Amino acid sequence: MTEPVRIRRERPAPRVERIVLARPEKRNAQDPAMLYELDAALAAAAADPEVRVIVLAADGPDFSSGHDLSSPMTMPGPPTATLEGDFDAPGEEGHFAFECEAFLGLCRRWRELPKPTIAQVQGRVIAGGLMLVWPMDLVVAGEGATFSDPVSAFGVNGVEYFVHAYEIGARRAKELLFTGEAMGATEAHRIGMVNRVVPDAELAAETLDLAVRIAARPQFGLRLAKASVNRSQDAQGMQTAIDSAFALHNLGHANNLARFGTIVDPSGAAVIRGRP
Ligand code: ZN
Repeated sequence: MTEPVRIRRERPAPRVERIVLARPEKRNAQDPAMLYELDAALAAAAADPEVRVIVLAADGPDFSSGHDLSSPMTMPGPPTATLEGDFDAPGEEGHFAFECEAFLGLCRRWRELPKPTIAQVQGRVIAGGLMLVWPMDLVVAGEGATFSDPVSAFGVNGVEYFVHAYEIGARRAKELLFTGEAMGATEAHRIGMVNRVVPDAELAAETLDLAVRIAARPQFGLRLAKASVNRSQDAQGMQTAIDSAFALHNLGHANNLARFGTIVDPSGAAVIRGRP
């Protein structure tokens, strides 16, 4: 595997791996290459016996502005071994396969990493940015952090990893999706989406302190605890809900392809900027 260029790996304390999104000039917009660099780094940290807790952080003022829409939505390398295939097929077929693997597939993989993971979040988290935060186990946010998913403007339901109602509750999820407006860190904490809010200047130190305390505990107990909470959510129907919403998401893409020749409604960007 070649050296990553869109992320960076750090070891800020014994037993703690910090993986940093390192594309601040693009507000850490995610192209497929970045997603797969991140996936490889997370897999390596999961396999490393020296690592007990993984922190996912980001360079620059914003954690992530979402998917890089200027980048082709294509697999960055040889096709991954997956049930999906024909990534280059025309129409919705190829794009659906791509999203199954590179968006939904990666999020599910990351949620099931066998070690505790902590998102360290500052600034804006927009749409696809949520797909890096929500699969993590814990979220520490700087007080200036904001969270939004404005993509109904693009003629789809929300980001591909559709756990909104589980993360913030049904009514708050509808408001977030209907208005496209951002939710602040304090509100996200109040409704349980964020574990703790800290001053922005102390974000890295507070997150590391939490990681170190977790890393001191026996690994197998942590793994069993994580699996038990994840299975509790699954027992509430979360995976079925994700699959159902993902199908509707790709119905949206197919509709856009038929009407506009692109996977997103081209008028959406102006709607999001408040100039419909
Ligand atoms: Zn999509």
